[in-house]
Amino acid sequence: MQTIDKLISAPWILPVEPQGCVLEDHALAIHEGRILDLLPTEEAQARYRPETHRRLERHALIPGLVNAHTHSPMTLLRGLADDLPLMDWLQNHIWPAEGRFVGEGFVHDGTLLAAAEMIRGGTTCFNDMYFFPETTGQVAARAGLRAVLGLIVIDFPSAWAGDAEEYITKGLDIHDRYKGDALLSFCFAPHAPYTVGDDPLRRLATLAQELEIPVHMHVHETAHEVEEAVARFGMRPLERLARLGLVGPSLLGVHMTQLEAAEIRYLAETGAHVVHCPESNLKLASGFCPVQALLEAGVNVALGTDGSASNNDLDLLGEMRTAALLAKGVSGDAAALPAHTALRMATLNGARALGLGEITGSLEPGKSADITAVDLGEPETLPLYDPASHLVYAAARHQVSDVWVAGRPLLRDRQLTTLDLPDLRRRVADWQRRIAAAD
Ligand SMILES: [Zn+2]
Repeated sequence: MQTIDKLISAPWILPVEPQGCVLEDHALAIHEGRILDLLPTEEAQARYRPETHRRLERHALIPGLVNAHTHSPMTLLRGLADDLPLMDWLQNHIWPAEGRFVGEGFVHDGTLLAAAEMIRGGTTCFNDMYFFPETTGQVAARAGLRAVLGLIVIDFPSAWAGDAEEYITKGLDIHDRYKGDALLSFCFAPHAPYTVGDDPLRRLATLAQELEIPVHMHVHETAHEVEEAVARFGMRPLERLARLGLVGPSLLGVHMTQLEAAEIRYLAETGAHVVHCPESNLKLASGFCPVQALLEAGVNVALGTDGSASNNDLDLLGEMRTAALLAKGVSGDAAALPAHTALRMATLNGARALGLGEITGSLEPGKSADITAVDLGEPETLPLYDPASHLVYAAARHQVSDVWVAGRPLLRDRQLTTLDLPDLRRRVADWQRRIAAAD
């Protein structure tokens, strides 16, 4: 008998790799934050002597969900302005509120709120793009979440930096100070082709190669963006990024609602990743990402929620469902984006896009114990013929019971273990009062 830290057993385990696999009455053996073994529960009890054994009787275990694109502090602007055209929404509500309130305190409390929501929804890893990324990293560390900090670059001044040069310098400084951290990693996050000029983008292409970190950027979000780029630069944004050396396996193109067949082939050939944010695209009427065509071409497609001002939640279970349903509607094919593929997009595909494919995104021996348990015994998911079907088409966040990152419990029986909910409520109420008074 081998002594280990922890055994977690459940009626169903969906490890995501191999694709489509559903294991019945299996257990995960966990030691020193890593998955040591995945085997039938009976065998596990004969082979291992765990310090704790968490027996889940009605649950499915899945890899912790990976939110491949968000702006977590924007939780504080959730529901501030809805049902408006993009430019009215941005120019008359979101940008004025950000201009007035964004600072370290806003980012701290907004990320805290996002962390509570993400953990309660089964998310264990998020890729962020916002000002004051160091503060986001500190809050993520306190919450116990795995975070990819987008080192934001934009040509416009903010409370965080004055110009592209200063954003890059500050980002590099954060990268150098935190690069050894077990749960933090980095990507460059130039906001979008229309807000960052050629020189900083060229510099980021070089730096990303030197530091071996991804580049995370909104690309082809709307038809308007593409038309404007053609008028201004004489080419579509993706072509401009390609000429600047940014399109390749390190690129995460977020949204990509406007893609021609040749561009889809080009993304596949270069190994670029797409982050699909269906609910944000629907809410802002941005267009439809051709997900099924991308998957068929061999492009790695991950899932993101985008910020909570345009979604309005950080719910990846919901995002999987929307992605699966929308792909069928857009392609006219009910077989498009089946449940197991949606689950893979929300886990392993996200991890791979972020360069974390060897660390998280699937339940395999050697990987970090980043795990989400979903109670499928609730009336909403009965009867149960296929757990993958329920996870994508029927389950909701209230059924997420337990969440672990690197073997550490962040949610136990629906209770947050690392965050103080009454304190968080007080902080958010204070922001609500100030922001509502100014809007
Ligand atoms: Zn975004």
